[in-house]
Amino acid sequence: MPLSTAEIASALADLVGSDNLVTDATHMGAWLNEPRKRFHVPAAAVVTPPDLAAVQAVMAWAHAHGVAIIPQGGNTGLVGAQVPRSGGEVILSLQKLDRIRSLDLAAGVMVAEAGVILETAHKAAEDAGAMFPLWLASQGSARIGGVLSSNAGGVNVLAYGNARELTLGVEAVLADGRLYRGLNALKKDNTGYDLKDLLVGAEGTLGIITAASLKLYPLPEDYETALVNVASPQAALEMFQLMRQRAGARLNAFELIPWIGLDFQLRHNMLDRDPTASASPWYALIELTRMAGTAPGALQSSLEAAFEAGLISDAVLAESLADRTRMWAFREQMSECQSREGASIKHDVSVPIAAIPALIAEGSAAAEKLVPGIRPVPFGHMGDGNIHFNFSMPLGADPKAFMAEFDEAMHEAIYEVVLRHGGSVSAEHGIGQLKVDLLERVKDPVALEMMRAIKTALDPKGILNPGKMLRAAP
Ligand SMILES: Cc1cc2nc3c(=O)[nH]c(=O)nc-3n(C[C@H](O)[C@H](O)[C@H](O)COP(=O)(O)OP(=O)(O)OC[C@H]3O[C@@H](n4cnc5c(N)ncnc54)[C@H](O)[C@@H]3O)c2cc1C
Repeated sequence: MPLSTAEIASALADLVGSDNLVTDATHMGAWLNEPRKRFHVPAAAVVTPPDLAAVQAVMAWAHAHGVAIIPQGGNTGLVGAQVPRSGGEVILSLQKLDRIRSLDLAAGVMVAEAGVILETAHKAAEDAGAMFPLWLASQGSARIGGVLSSNAGGVNVLAYGNARELTLGVEAVLADGRLYRGLNALKKDNTGYDLKDLLVGAEGTLGIITAASLKLYPLPEDYETALVNVASPQAALEMFQLMRQRAGARLNAFELIPWIGLDFQLRHNMLDRDPTASASPWYALIELTRMAGTAPGALQSSLEAAFEAGLISDAVLAESLADRTRMWAFREQMSECQSREGASIKHDVSVPIAAIPALIAEGSAAAEKLVPGIRPVPFGHMGDGNIHFNFSMPLGADPKAFMAEFDEAMHEAIYEVVLRHGGSVSAEHGIGQLKVDLLERVKDPVALEMMRAIKTALDPKGILNPGKMLRAAP
């Protein structure tokens, strides 16, 4: 017999105390209200264990009684992975495990607990004279456990990799409460399967990450940043290749932004002034790092070469921190400006980078055929082949009717183009509950069988985040 909500609340109160438990649904908003405002299912309780031993105790109890547990960090995930799906699950928030346990500058390793806010991790690294190079617009709320569990990407994947590549080891509580002590700080360790790589990106379905050893990098002396006018995604692609050849690993970011994004932001007064040099159908935000002891000017000379080659028509170089901040705000506000334009249908997709121009052209044509007047807003991490391929509703449309009528059909149309070009239907936001059925349809069947076998081996009762990433066992 499954436990009742009252029995769950009473058992958890005995385990962790009422200070670490929320059972009144009217006080659960912070843990239930997710950024996409799509998933609104109640939880049986929210538990906030104060330490590692309490996480283990909760999991041992949940395993014994078959209670579903949803690990949660900052609740900023965009695919509904961190909130209930069927109702009656317990949200286990790691927010109180928020210590930086150690920071070894010489080894370039920081050990942070799962509840450390990403921005706090940045600051800890910077205070020590180093850098943890994972930046997201949600970094003021996202927590290390959530960032790793969603294998987050962000704006500097090009130079430093995504969360998986920035993680050396993890400590995790397994479904039955056992502790996996994997806080490895080794760059080389060929002693079997890479369990860290399984837990990172597992969206809380295989274990609860309680701490991680993270890679630190030297702090750059400075950044060189420019907003460049490009005529088309094809020109942006050629510009990217030029930058790669000239800057190599110093190329920190290469983001693509369409003119419509500038139009949205200026119309909604989201910028204090236009950060671009002049009007252009597309912009590329390009940034290089400059390490101590190297001369400035690498970006400027690359831009001059690009002008001569006819790849770009205009550009503005950041001359101050304020300029750089304004340029990045233009990029970071791309999601927000779309919400001010009414409903939009979103896709977080990736393709081999050379296919980006075709993806944008074919996807936009398919969308316009389906919904005349729809406004394509493709933007994002061009250097990673990752485009946030979003579509704002036609001017004057009714938002609810637009979503009800076209959401599904648009997904079908865009994913068809993505898959035809050898791409992925989830580049960095994950699967969660949003894309479970889609994954079943598009993922290689053998890969799905392997994923299910791993899930069954590590969580035989299916209590860890059931129904997320993979369909729940019947
Ligand atoms: C404005 C905005 C911008 C964003 N930009 C980006 C971006 O550029 N790139 C990107 O990749 N993502 C981005 N995201 C998505 C999101 O912020 C990231 O996925 C982030 O990494 C999630 O961290 P979190 O702590 O909020 O995790 P949550 O949302 O709380 O959880 C995410 C997933 O991790 C699991 N989880 C959480 N903690 C643990 C743990 N300790 N152990 C095991 N599982 C756990 C949850 O069950 C869930 O499956 C953005 C989101 C917003 C709102």
